[in-house]
Amino acid sequence: MPEVLVVGAGPTGLVMAYALATQGVDVHIIDQASGPGTASRAMGVQARTLEFYRQFGFGDAMAEAGIPAKTVHVRNAGGEAAQVSLAEMGGDLSPYPYMLAYPQDAHEAFLVERLAEIGVEVEWNTELASLEQSADQVVAELRRGERTQKMSCAYLCGCDGAHSATRHALEIGFDGGTYAGLFYVADTEVEGEPSMDLTVNLGSAGIGLCLPVRGGQQRLIGMVPSEHSDPPPESFETIRAPVEALIGVTVTKVNWFSTYQVHHRVADAFRRGRCFLAGDAGHIHSPAGGQGMNTGIGDAVNLAWKLAAVLQGRAQPKLLETYETERIGFARELVDTTDRAFRFMTSEGWATEFIRGWLAPKLAGVATKFSAARRKMFRLISQIRIEYRDCELGEGKAGEIHGGDRLPWTGAKGPDNYAPLRSCTWQLHVYGEPSEELATWAEGRSLDLHSFSWDEAMDDAGLAEGASYLVRPDGYVAWADKQADEGAAKGLEVYVDRWGLDFVREVAR
Ligand SMILES: Cc1cc2nc3c(=O)[nH]c(=O)nc-3n(C[C@H](O)[C@H](O)[C@H](O)COP(=O)(O)OP(=O)(O)OC[C@H]3O[C@@H](n4cnc5c(N)ncnc54)[C@H](O)[C@@H]3O)c2cc1C
Repeated sequence: MPEVLVVGAGPTGLVMAYALATQGVDVHIIDQASGPGTASRAMGVQARTLEFYRQFGFGDAMAEAGIPAKTVHVRNAGGEAAQVSLAEMGGDLSPYPYMLAYPQDAHEAFLVERLAEIGVEVEWNTELASLEQSADQVVAELRRGERTQKMSCAYLCGCDGAHSATRHALEIGFDGGTYAGLFYVADTEVEGEPSMDLTVNLGSAGIGLCLPVRGGQQRLIGMVPSEHSDPPPESFETIRAPVEALIGVTVTKVNWFSTYQVHHRVADAFRRGRCFLAGDAGHIHSPAGGQGMNTGIGDAVNLAWKLAAVLQGRAQPKLLETYETERIGFARELVDTTDRAFRFMTSEGWATEFIRGWLAPKLAGVATKFSAARRKMFRLISQIRIEYRDCELGEGKAGEIHGGDRLPWTGAKGPDNYAPLRSCTWQLHVYGEPSEELATWAEGRSLDLHSFSWDEAMDDAGLAEGASYLVRPDGYVAWADKQADEGAAKGLEVYVDRWGLDFVREVAR
Protein backbone atom coordinates (compact mmCIF):
# COMPACT_ATOMS: atom_id res chain seq x y z
CA MET A 1 0.00 0.00 0.00
CA PRO A 2 1.60 3.30 -1.09
CA GLU A 3 1.37 6.19 1.35
CA VAL A 4 0.21 8.51 -1.41
CA LEU A 5 -1.51 7.68 -4.70
CA VAL A 6 -1.05 10.42 -7.32
CA VAL A 7 -3.72 10.30 -10.02
CA GLY A 8 -2.56 11.89 -13.27
CA ALA A 9 0.93 12.25 -14.71
CA GLY A 10 0.60 15.71 -16.25
CA PRO A 11 3.02 18.40 -15.00
CA THR A 12 1.18 18.70 -11.65
CA GLY A 13 1.14 14.97 -10.86
CA LEU A 14 4.74 14.45 -11.97
CA VAL A 15 6.02 17.26 -9.74
CA MET A 16 3.84 16.02 -6.87
CA ALA A 17 5.27 12.51 -7.18
CA TYR A 18 8.85 13.81 -7.46
CA ALA A 19 8.58 16.11 -4.44
CA LEU A 20 6.95 13.38 -2.32
CA ALA A 21 9.40 10.65 -3.30
CA THR A 22 12.46 12.79 -2.62
CA GLN A 23 11.07 13.51 0.84
CA GLY A 24 10.97 9.82 1.61
CA VAL A 25 7.27 9.19 0.91
CA ASP A 26 6.24 5.89 -0.66
CA VAL A 27 4.35 7.18 -3.70
CA HIS A 28 2.52 5.53 -6.60
CA ILE A 29 1.57 7.50 -9.73
CA ILE A 30 -0.91 6.40 -12.39
CA ASP A 31 -2.22 7.86 -15.64
CA GLN A 32 -4.96 6.66 -17.95
CA ALA A 33 -2.92 7.65 -21.03
CA SER A 34 -0.45 5.25 -22.62
CA GLY A 35 2.52 7.61 -22.13
CA PRO A 36 3.52 11.25 -21.58
CA GLY A 37 1.54 13.95 -23.44
CA THR A 38 2.41 14.63 -27.06
CA ALA A 39 0.85 18.11 -27.52
CA SER A 40 3.07 21.09 -26.79
CA ARG A 41 0.23 23.03 -24.98
CA ALA A 42 1.87 25.13 -22.22
CA MET A 43 4.97 26.84 -23.60
CA GLY A 44 5.79 29.27 -20.81
CA VAL A 45 7.74 28.03 -17.80
CA GLN A 46 7.82 30.90 -15.31
CA ALA A 47 10.70 31.92 -13.05
CA ARG A 48 9.00 30.67 -9.85
CA THR A 49 8.67 27.18 -11.35
CA LEU A 50 12.36 27.20 -12.30
CA GLU A 51 13.21 28.32 -8.76
CA PHE A 52 11.38 25.26 -7.40
CA TYR A 53 13.21 23.09 -9.93
CA ARG A 54 16.48 24.64 -8.76
CA GLN A 55 15.60 23.42 -5.25
CA PHE A 56 15.11 19.95 -6.78
CA GLY A 57 18.51 20.25 -8.49
CA PHE A 58 17.35 20.52 -12.11
CA GLY A 59 16.36 24.18 -12.65
CA ASP A 60 19.47 24.93 -14.68
CA ALA A 61 19.12 21.73 -16.74
CA MET A 62 15.57 22.69 -17.75
CA ALA A 63 16.63 26.28 -18.44
CA GLU A 64 19.29 24.95 -20.81
CA ALA A 65 16.80 22.67 -22.55
CA GLY A 66 14.37 25.51 -23.36
CA ILE A 67 14.64 28.93 -24.99
CA PRO A 68 14.78 31.85 -22.54
CA ALA A 69 12.52 34.58 -23.96
CA LYS A 70 14.37 37.57 -22.50
CA THR A 71 12.64 40.41 -24.30
CA VAL A 72 8.97 41.25 -24.86
CA HIS A 73 8.00 43.36 -27.86
CA VAL A 74 4.63 45.11 -27.89
CA ARG A 75 3.49 45.91 -31.43
CA ASN A 76 0.47 47.60 -32.94
CA ALA A 77 -0.46 48.57 -36.48
CA GLY A 78 2.16 51.30 -36.41
CA GLY A 79 4.99 48.83 -35.62
CA GLU A 80 6.86 48.34 -32.36
CA ALA A 81 5.27 50.40 -29.54
CA ALA A 82 7.36 49.09 -26.63
CA GLN A 83 10.24 46.76 -25.96
CA VAL A 84 10.82 45.36 -22.49
CA SER A 85 13.83 43.41 -21.34
CA LEU A 86 12.71 40.76 -18.86
CA ALA A 87 16.37 40.30 -17.90
CA GLU A 88 16.44 43.97 -16.92
CA MET A 89 13.03 43.79 -15.22
CA GLY A 90 13.80 40.80 -13.08
CA GLY A 91 17.59 40.52 -13.14
CA ASP A 92 17.98 41.02 -9.40
CA LEU A 93 14.68 39.37 -8.46
CA SER A 94 15.22 35.81 -9.61
CA PRO A 95 18.05 33.57 -10.85
CA TYR A 96 15.80 33.09 -13.92
CA PRO A 97 14.93 36.59 -15.19
CA TYR A 98 12.96 35.47 -18.24
CA MET A 99 10.08 33.28 -19.36
CA LEU A 100 11.39 29.94 -20.55
CA ALA A 101 9.80 28.71 -23.76
CA TYR A 102 9.72 24.93 -23.31
CA PRO A 103 6.84 22.89 -24.73
CA GLN A 104 4.70 20.91 -22.31
CA ASP A 105 5.34 17.54 -24.00
CA ALA A 106 9.12 17.98 -23.64
CA HIS A 107 8.56 19.26 -20.08
CA GLU A 108 6.55 16.15 -19.13
CA ALA A 109 9.13 13.82 -20.71
CA PHE A 110 11.85 15.65 -18.75
CA LEU A 111 9.97 15.12 -15.47
CA VAL A 112 9.25 11.44 -16.25
CA GLU A 113 13.03 10.95 -16.68
CA ARG A 114 13.83 12.74 -13.40
CA LEU A 115 11.28 10.50 -11.64
CA ALA A 116 12.77 7.36 -13.19
CA GLU A 117 16.20 8.47 -11.91
CA ILE A 118 14.88 8.28 -8.35
CA GLY A 119 13.21 4.94 -8.99
CA VAL A 120 9.59 6.04 -9.53
CA GLU A 121 7.89 4.79 -12.72
CA VAL A 122 4.53 6.09 -13.88
CA GLU A 123 1.98 3.31 -14.24
CA TRP A 124 0.40 4.18 -17.62
CA ASN A 125 -2.92 2.81 -19.00
CA THR A 126 -4.34 2.90 -15.48
CA GLU A 127 -7.45 4.91 -14.74
CA LEU A 128 -9.00 5.97 -11.46
CA ALA A 129 -12.54 4.61 -11.74
CA SER A 130 -13.87 5.47 -8.27
CA LEU A 131 -12.77 6.01 -4.70
CA GLU A 132 -13.97 5.63 -1.17
CA GLN A 133 -12.43 7.00 1.98
CA SER A 134 -12.64 6.41 5.70
CA ALA A 135 -11.02 8.17 8.65
CA ASP A 136 -7.69 6.41 8.12
CA GLN A 137 -7.41 5.45 4.45
CA VAL A 138 -8.54 5.93 0.86
CA VAL A 139 -9.46 2.95 -1.31
CA ALA A 140 -9.17 3.69 -5.03
CA GLU A 141 -10.61 1.47 -7.71
CA LEU A 142 -8.18 1.37 -10.63
CA ARG A 143 -9.11 0.20 -14.11
CA ARG A 144 -6.54 -1.35 -16.47
CA GLY A 145 -8.35 -2.27 -19.68
CA GLU A 146 -11.02 -4.80 -18.66
CA ARG A 147 -9.53 -5.44 -15.23
CA THR A 148 -10.16 -3.48 -12.05
CA GLN A 149 -8.19 -3.58 -8.84
CA LYS A 150 -8.47 -1.84 -5.49
CA MET A 151 -5.54 0.07 -4.06
CA SER A 152 -5.44 1.53 -0.55
CA CYS A 153 -3.39 4.55 0.39
CA ALA A 154 -3.15 7.01 3.25
CA TYR A 155 -3.73 10.04 0.99
CA LEU A 156 -4.77 10.58 -2.62
CA CYS A 157 -3.77 13.53 -4.81
CA GLY A 158 -6.11 14.16 -7.73
CA CYS A 159 -3.91 15.74 -10.40
CA ASP A 160 -6.15 14.41 -13.14
CA GLY A 161 -6.86 17.57 -15.10
CA ALA A 162 -9.96 19.58 -15.93
CA HIS A 163 -12.32 16.56 -16.13
CA SER A 164 -10.94 15.17 -12.85
CA ALA A 165 -12.47 11.84 -11.82
CA THR A 166 -11.23 12.60 -8.30
CA ARG A 167 -13.22 15.84 -8.18
CA HIS A 168 -16.33 14.05 -9.47
CA ALA A 169 -15.94 11.21 -6.97
CA LEU A 170 -15.63 13.72 -4.13
CA GLU A 171 -18.67 15.62 -5.46
CA ILE A 172 -16.83 18.92 -5.36
CA GLY A 173 -18.47 21.66 -7.45
CA PHE A 174 -16.52 23.35 -10.27
CA ASP A 175 -18.29 26.64 -10.86
CA GLY A 176 -17.52 29.03 -13.66
CA GLY A 177 -18.23 29.11 -17.34
CA THR A 178 -16.96 29.01 -20.89
CA TYR A 179 -16.06 32.06 -22.96
CA ALA A 180 -17.88 32.56 -26.21
CA GLY A 181 -14.73 33.07 -28.31
CA LEU A 182 -12.50 30.47 -29.92
CA PHE A 183 -8.70 30.39 -29.53
CA TYR A 184 -6.18 29.02 -32.02
CA VAL A 185 -2.67 27.76 -31.48
CA ALA A 186 -0.23 27.00 -34.31
CA ASP A 187 3.38 25.83 -34.34
CA THR A 188 4.76 27.24 -37.57
CA GLU A 189 7.84 27.95 -39.64
CA VAL A 190 8.03 31.50 -40.93
CA GLU A 191 9.92 33.42 -43.57
CA GLY A 192 13.20 34.92 -42.34
CA GLU A 193 14.99 34.44 -39.04
CA PRO A 194 12.74 33.11 -36.24
CA SER A 195 12.47 35.46 -33.27
CA MET A 196 13.80 34.28 -29.89
CA ASP A 197 11.64 36.84 -28.06
CA LEU A 198 8.00 37.07 -27.06
CA THR A 199 5.94 39.38 -29.25
CA VAL A 200 2.54 40.70 -28.20
CA ASN A 201 0.64 42.11 -31.17
CA LEU A 202 -2.22 44.40 -30.21
CA GLY A 203 -4.64 45.20 -33.00
CA SER A 204 -8.16 46.52 -33.26
CA ALA A 205 -9.11 42.99 -34.41
CA GLY A 206 -7.62 41.23 -31.39
CA ILE A 207 -4.36 40.08 -29.88
CA GLY A 208 -1.81 37.69 -31.35
CA LEU A 209 1.19 36.27 -29.49
CA CYS A 210 4.34 34.88 -31.07
CA LEU A 211 6.84 32.77 -29.07
CA PRO A 212 9.89 30.72 -29.99
CA VAL A 213 9.56 26.91 -30.11
CA ARG A 214 12.29 24.28 -30.44
CA GLY A 215 13.87 23.76 -33.86
CA GLY A 216 13.39 27.35 -35.01
CA GLN A 217 9.59 27.23 -35.03
CA GLN A 218 7.27 30.02 -33.93
CA ARG A 219 4.19 29.43 -31.75
CA LEU A 220 1.30 31.69 -32.79
CA ILE A 221 -1.60 32.09 -30.35
CA GLY A 222 -4.70 34.25 -30.56
CA MET A 223 -8.41 34.52 -31.13
CA VAL A 224 -10.04 33.07 -34.21
CA PRO A 225 -11.73 36.09 -35.88
CA SER A 226 -15.47 35.78 -35.14
CA GLU A 227 -16.42 35.50 -38.84
CA HIS A 228 -14.33 32.25 -39.04
CA SER A 229 -15.20 30.69 -35.69
CA ASP A 230 -18.47 28.87 -36.45
CA PRO A 231 -17.79 26.18 -37.50
CA PRO A 232 -14.24 26.12 -36.06
CA PRO A 233 -11.56 26.29 -38.77
CA GLU A 234 -10.06 22.91 -39.61
CA SER A 235 -6.78 24.32 -40.83
CA PHE A 236 -4.63 27.40 -40.44
CA GLU A 237 -5.42 28.39 -44.05
CA THR A 238 -8.87 29.72 -43.05
CA ILE A 239 -7.35 32.34 -40.73
CA ARG A 240 -3.96 32.78 -42.44
CA ALA A 241 -4.61 36.29 -43.83
CA PRO A 242 -5.83 38.04 -40.62
CA VAL A 243 -3.28 36.22 -38.43
CA GLU A 244 -0.32 37.05 -40.68
CA ALA A 245 -1.48 40.67 -40.87
CA LEU A 246 -1.83 40.99 -37.08
CA ILE A 247 1.37 39.18 -36.10
CA GLY A 248 3.48 40.45 -38.99
CA VAL A 249 4.84 37.08 -40.17
CA THR A 250 4.59 35.01 -43.33
CA VAL A 251 3.99 31.37 -42.47
CA THR A 252 5.78 28.86 -44.73
CA LYS A 253 4.81 25.63 -42.93
CA VAL A 254 2.29 24.66 -40.23
CA ASN A 255 3.45 21.76 -38.03
CA TRP A 256 0.54 21.77 -35.57
CA PHE A 257 -2.75 23.63 -35.54
CA SER A 258 -5.54 23.41 -33.03
CA THR A 259 -8.48 25.46 -31.82
CA TYR A 260 -9.96 25.35 -28.37
CA GLN A 261 -12.50 26.99 -26.13
CA VAL A 262 -11.45 28.63 -22.93
CA HIS A 263 -13.09 27.85 -19.61
CA HIS A 264 -12.81 29.56 -16.24
CA ARG A 265 -13.63 27.52 -13.17
CA VAL A 266 -12.40 27.01 -9.61
CA ALA A 267 -13.31 23.98 -7.49
CA ASP A 268 -15.37 24.73 -4.36
CA ALA A 269 -12.74 22.96 -2.24
CA PHE A 270 -9.24 21.59 -2.78
CA ARG A 271 -9.61 18.92 -0.10
CA ARG A 272 -12.10 16.39 1.18
CA GLY A 273 -10.77 14.29 4.02
CA ARG A 274 -7.72 12.39 2.77
CA CYS A 275 -8.11 13.46 -0.87
CA PHE A 276 -6.74 16.61 -2.47
CA LEU A 277 -7.13 18.37 -5.81
CA ALA A 278 -4.22 20.10 -7.54
CA GLY A 279 -3.57 21.71 -10.93
CA ASP A 280 -6.28 21.81 -13.59
CA ALA A 281 -8.39 19.46 -11.45
CA GLY A 282 -8.87 22.43 -9.11
CA HIS A 283 -8.73 25.47 -11.40
CA ILE A 284 -8.82 26.27 -15.09
CA HIS A 285 -8.57 29.66 -16.71
CA SER A 286 -7.68 31.45 -19.88
CA PRO A 287 -4.14 30.84 -21.13
CA ALA A 288 -3.59 34.64 -21.05
CA GLY A 289 -0.28 35.11 -19.28
CA GLY A 290 0.82 31.46 -19.42
CA GLN A 291 -0.10 30.74 -15.79
CA GLY A 292 -2.13 27.49 -15.73
CA MET A 293 0.57 24.83 -15.72
CA ASN A 294 2.83 26.89 -13.47
CA THR A 295 0.02 27.27 -10.93
CA GLY A 296 -0.52 23.50 -10.88
CA ILE A 297 3.18 22.95 -10.25
CA GLY A 298 2.99 25.52 -7.43
CA ASP A 299 0.08 23.57 -5.91
CA ALA A 300 2.11 20.35 -6.02
CA VAL A 301 5.15 21.94 -4.37
CA ASN A 302 2.94 23.46 -1.65
CA LEU A 303 1.17 20.21 -0.80
CA ALA A 304 4.00 17.67 -1.11
CA TRP A 305 6.16 18.83 1.80
CA LYS A 306 3.12 19.16 4.05
CA LEU A 307 1.96 15.61 3.26
CA ALA A 308 5.48 14.27 3.83
CA ALA A 309 5.74 16.05 7.20
CA VAL A 310 2.35 14.81 8.43
CA LEU A 311 2.91 11.23 7.18
CA GLN A 312 6.27 11.11 8.94
CA GLY A 313 4.92 12.56 12.18
CA ARG A 314 7.00 15.74 11.81
CA ALA A 315 4.03 18.13 11.96
CA GLN A 316 0.49 18.13 13.25
CA PRO A 317 -2.19 17.03 10.75
CA LYS A 318 -3.68 20.57 10.87
CA LEU A 319 -0.76 21.58 8.61
CA LEU A 320 -2.68 19.96 5.74
CA GLU A 321 -5.51 22.47 6.19
CA THR A 322 -3.15 25.24 5.07
CA TYR A 323 -2.87 23.75 1.56
CA GLU A 324 -6.34 24.87 0.56
CA THR A 325 -6.19 28.23 2.33
CA GLU A 326 -2.86 29.06 0.70
CA ARG A 327 -3.68 27.90 -2.81
CA ILE A 328 -7.40 28.44 -3.41
CA GLY A 329 -7.19 32.20 -2.88
CA PHE A 330 -4.51 32.51 -5.54
CA ALA A 331 -6.47 30.28 -7.94
CA ARG A 332 -9.56 32.50 -7.53
CA GLU A 333 -7.55 35.67 -8.01
CA LEU A 334 -5.87 34.21 -11.08
CA VAL A 335 -9.20 33.32 -12.65
CA ASP A 336 -10.35 36.94 -12.07
CA THR A 337 -7.16 38.47 -13.50
CA THR A 338 -6.99 36.24 -16.54
CA ASP A 339 -10.73 36.84 -17.00
CA ARG A 340 -10.15 40.59 -17.20
CA ALA A 341 -7.17 40.15 -19.54
CA PHE A 342 -9.14 37.74 -21.68
CA ARG A 343 -12.14 40.06 -21.97
CA PHE A 344 -9.81 42.90 -22.95
CA MET A 345 -8.31 40.65 -25.63
CA THR A 346 -11.62 39.53 -27.04
CA SER A 347 -14.20 42.29 -26.67
CA GLU A 348 -15.56 44.10 -29.67
CA GLY A 349 -16.79 47.70 -30.08
CA TRP A 350 -14.99 50.83 -31.19
CA ALA A 351 -13.94 51.97 -27.68
CA THR A 352 -12.21 48.68 -26.74
CA GLU A 353 -10.73 48.36 -30.21
CA PHE A 354 -9.27 51.86 -29.87
CA ILE A 355 -7.84 51.09 -26.42
CA ARG A 356 -6.40 47.75 -27.54
CA GLY A 357 -5.05 48.88 -30.89
CA TRP A 358 -3.73 52.31 -29.96
CA LEU A 359 -3.91 53.39 -26.33
CA ALA A 360 -2.68 50.19 -24.62
CA PRO A 361 0.51 49.87 -26.71
CA LYS A 362 1.30 53.54 -26.02
CA LEU A 363 0.67 53.08 -22.28
CA ALA A 364 2.82 49.94 -22.30
CA GLY A 365 5.61 51.99 -23.87
CA VAL A 366 5.35 54.67 -21.18
CA ALA A 367 4.86 52.28 -18.20
CA THR A 368 7.85 50.15 -19.07
CA LYS A 369 10.10 53.21 -18.87
CA PHE A 370 9.59 53.17 -15.09
CA SER A 371 11.61 50.62 -13.21
CA ALA A 372 8.92 50.13 -10.50
CA ALA A 373 6.33 49.28 -13.17
CA ARG A 374 8.76 46.91 -14.90
CA ARG A 375 9.53 45.08 -11.66
CA LYS A 376 5.84 44.82 -10.82
CA MET A 377 5.16 43.35 -14.24
CA PHE A 378 7.93 40.77 -13.85
CA ARG A 379 6.74 39.79 -10.38
CA LEU A 380 3.22 39.28 -11.71
CA ILE A 381 4.04 37.17 -14.76
CA SER A 382 6.83 35.14 -13.16
CA GLN A 383 4.62 34.17 -10.15
CA ILE A 384 7.33 35.32 -7.73
CA ARG A 385 4.78 37.73 -6.22
CA ILE A 386 2.67 34.85 -4.83
CA GLU A 387 2.58 35.09 -1.05
CA TYR A 388 0.63 33.53 1.80
CA ARG A 389 0.62 36.47 4.23
CA ASP A 390 -3.01 36.04 5.25
CA CYS A 391 -2.65 32.35 5.98
CA GLU A 392 -2.24 30.84 9.40
CA LEU A 393 1.24 29.49 8.74
CA GLY A 394 2.82 32.93 8.19
CA GLU A 395 3.85 34.97 11.21
CA GLY A 396 5.88 38.12 11.98
CA LYS A 397 7.64 40.71 9.87
CA ALA A 398 11.23 41.94 9.55
CA GLY A 399 12.15 44.64 7.05
CA GLU A 400 9.66 44.41 4.21
CA ILE A 401 9.38 40.64 4.48
CA HIS A 402 6.35 39.14 6.21
CA GLY A 403 5.74 35.58 7.29
CA GLY A 404 4.13 34.00 4.21
CA ASP A 405 6.29 35.85 1.66
CA ARG A 406 8.57 34.13 -0.80
CA LEU A 407 12.11 34.40 0.55
CA PRO A 408 13.62 37.11 -1.68
CA TRP A 409 16.71 36.16 -3.66
CA THR A 410 19.92 38.09 -2.97
CA GLY A 411 22.22 36.26 -5.38
CA ALA A 412 22.37 38.82 -8.23
CA LYS A 413 24.60 41.22 -6.31
CA GLY A 414 25.22 39.47 -3.02
CA PRO A 415 25.57 35.95 -1.61
CA ASP A 416 23.25 33.30 -3.07
CA ASN A 417 20.82 32.78 -0.19
CA TYR A 418 18.92 30.25 -2.33
CA ALA A 419 21.83 27.77 -2.30
CA PRO A 420 20.76 26.20 1.05
CA LEU A 421 17.17 25.84 -0.20
CA ARG A 422 18.33 22.86 -2.27
CA SER A 423 17.92 20.65 0.78
CA CYS A 424 14.12 21.33 0.66
CA THR A 425 14.10 21.27 4.46
CA TRP A 426 13.13 23.79 7.13
CA GLN A 427 15.97 26.23 7.84
CA LEU A 428 16.70 29.36 9.79
CA HIS A 429 18.27 32.30 7.94
CA VAL A 430 19.99 35.09 9.82
CA TYR A 431 21.11 38.14 7.83
CA GLY A 432 23.88 39.26 10.14
CA GLU A 433 25.21 37.59 13.30
CA PRO A 434 23.02 35.16 15.24
CA SER A 435 23.33 35.28 19.02
CA GLU A 436 24.77 32.27 20.80
CA GLU A 437 21.38 31.59 22.39
CA LEU A 438 19.67 31.39 19.02
CA ALA A 439 22.41 29.16 17.56
CA THR A 440 22.16 26.84 20.55
CA TRP A 441 18.37 26.70 20.26
CA ALA A 442 18.58 25.81 16.53
CA GLU A 443 21.18 23.13 17.21
CA GLY A 444 19.03 21.65 19.94
CA ARG A 445 16.14 21.39 17.52
CA SER A 446 18.33 20.03 14.66
CA LEU A 447 17.30 23.04 12.58
CA ASP A 448 19.93 24.16 10.03
CA LEU A 449 21.03 27.72 10.68
CA HIS A 450 22.45 29.71 7.76
CA SER A 451 23.91 33.09 8.57
CA PHE A 452 24.87 35.56 5.86
CA SER A 453 27.17 38.54 6.42
CA TRP A 454 25.14 41.68 5.89
CA ASP A 455 25.27 43.00 2.34
CA GLU A 456 23.55 45.86 0.53
CA ALA A 457 21.84 43.34 -1.77
CA MET A 458 19.87 42.10 1.26
CA ASP A 459 18.62 45.59 2.01
CA ASP A 460 17.58 45.96 -1.65
CA ALA A 461 15.68 42.66 -1.37
CA GLY A 462 13.71 43.94 1.65
CA LEU A 463 15.45 41.84 4.30
CA ALA A 464 16.42 43.47 7.61
CA GLU A 465 19.93 43.57 9.05
CA GLY A 466 20.29 41.28 12.06
CA ALA A 467 16.87 39.69 11.51
CA SER A 468 15.99 36.01 11.54
CA TYR A 469 13.66 34.20 9.15
CA LEU A 470 12.36 30.66 9.49
CA VAL A 471 12.13 29.30 5.93
CA ARG A 472 9.79 26.47 4.90
CA PRO A 473 10.89 23.56 2.70
CA ASP A 474 9.26 25.31 -0.32
CA GLY A 475 11.27 28.52 0.09
CA TYR A 476 8.55 30.67 1.71
CA VAL A 477 9.18 32.53 4.96
CA ALA A 478 7.13 30.97 7.76
CA TRP A 479 8.09 33.28 10.58
CA ALA A 480 10.17 36.45 10.87
CA ASP A 481 11.72 38.44 13.72
CA LYS A 482 13.72 41.67 13.66
CA GLN A 483 16.27 40.13 16.03
CA ALA A 484 18.37 36.98 16.03
CA ASP A 485 18.67 36.69 19.81
CA GLU A 486 17.23 34.87 22.80
CA GLY A 487 13.84 36.57 22.28
CA ALA A 488 13.76 35.24 18.71
CA ALA A 489 14.56 31.75 20.02
CA LYS A 490 11.61 31.99 22.41
CA GLY A 491 9.30 33.14 19.60
CA LEU A 492 10.49 30.27 17.42
CA GLU A 493 9.89 27.79 20.20
CA VAL A 494 6.24 28.89 20.42
CA TYR A 495 5.82 28.71 16.62
CA VAL A 496 7.45 25.29 16.32
CA ASP A 497 5.35 23.87 19.16
CA ARG A 498 2.14 25.28 17.71
CA TRP A 499 2.63 23.27 14.52
CA GLY A 500 4.32 20.31 16.19
CA LEU A 501 7.35 20.69 13.92
CA ASP A 502 10.13 18.16 14.30
CA PHE A 503 13.29 18.76 12.24
CA VAL A 504 15.24 15.75 13.51
CA ARG A 505 13.85 13.21 11.04
CA GLU A 506 13.63 15.53 8.01
CA VAL A 507 14.92 14.04 4.77
CA ALA A 508 17.47 16.39 3.16
CA ARG A 509 18.09 16.14 -0.57
C1 LIG B 1 -3.16 25.55 -26.03
C2 LIG B 1 -2.81 25.69 -24.58
C3 LIG B 1 -1.78 26.52 -24.21
C4 LIG B 1 -1.43 26.64 -22.88
N1 LIG B 1 -0.38 27.46 -22.54
C5 LIG B 1 0.02 27.55 -21.26
C6 LIG B 1 1.23 28.28 -20.89
O1 LIG B 1 1.92 28.87 -21.73
N2 LIG B 1 1.61 28.30 -19.58
C7 LIG B 1 0.86 27.64 -18.62
O2 LIG B 1 1.24 27.72 -17.44
N3 LIG B 1 -0.25 26.92 -18.94
C8 LIG B 1 -0.69 26.84 -20.22
N4 LIG B 1 -1.77 26.06 -20.55
C9 LIG B 1 -2.47 25.29 -19.50
C10 LIG B 1 -1.74 23.96 -19.20
O3 LIG B 1 -1.63 23.17 -20.36
C11 LIG B 1 -2.50 23.20 -18.10
O4 LIG B 1 -2.74 24.10 -17.04
C12 LIG B 1 -1.69 21.99 -17.60
O5 LIG B 1 -1.64 20.96 -18.54
C13 LIG B 1 -2.30 21.44 -16.31
O6 LIG B 1 -1.51 20.36 -15.85
P1 LIG B 1 -2.16 19.24 -14.95
O7 LIG B 1 -1.06 18.26 -14.71
O8 LIG B 1 -2.84 19.86 -13.80
O9 LIG B 1 -3.31 18.58 -15.84
P2 LIG B 1 -3.17 17.81 -17.22
O10 LIG B 1 -2.02 18.30 -18.00
O11 LIG B 1 -4.52 17.87 -17.85
O12 LIG B 1 -2.85 16.31 -16.79
C14 LIG B 1 -3.83 15.48 -16.21
C15 LIG B 1 -3.41 14.03 -16.43
O13 LIG B 1 -4.35 13.20 -15.74
C16 LIG B 1 -4.66 12.07 -16.55
N5 LIG B 1 -5.99 11.59 -16.14
C17 LIG B 1 -7.19 12.20 -16.31
N6 LIG B 1 -8.18 11.48 -15.76
C18 LIG B 1 -7.60 10.39 -15.21
C19 LIG B 1 -8.10 9.26 -14.50
N7 LIG B 1 -9.40 9.12 -14.21
N8 LIG B 1 -7.23 8.31 -14.10
C20 LIG B 1 -5.90 8.43 -14.37
N9 LIG B 1 -5.37 9.48 -15.05
C21 LIG B 1 -6.20 10.46 -15.45
C22 LIG B 1 -4.60 12.61 -17.97
O14 LIG B 1 -4.33 11.55 -18.89
C23 LIG B 1 -3.45 13.59 -17.88
O15 LIG B 1 -2.20 13.02 -18.22
C24 LIG B 1 -2.16 25.92 -21.88
C25 LIG B 1 -3.21 25.09 -22.26
C26 LIG B 1 -3.55 24.97 -23.59
C27 LIG B 1 -4.70 24.07 -23.98
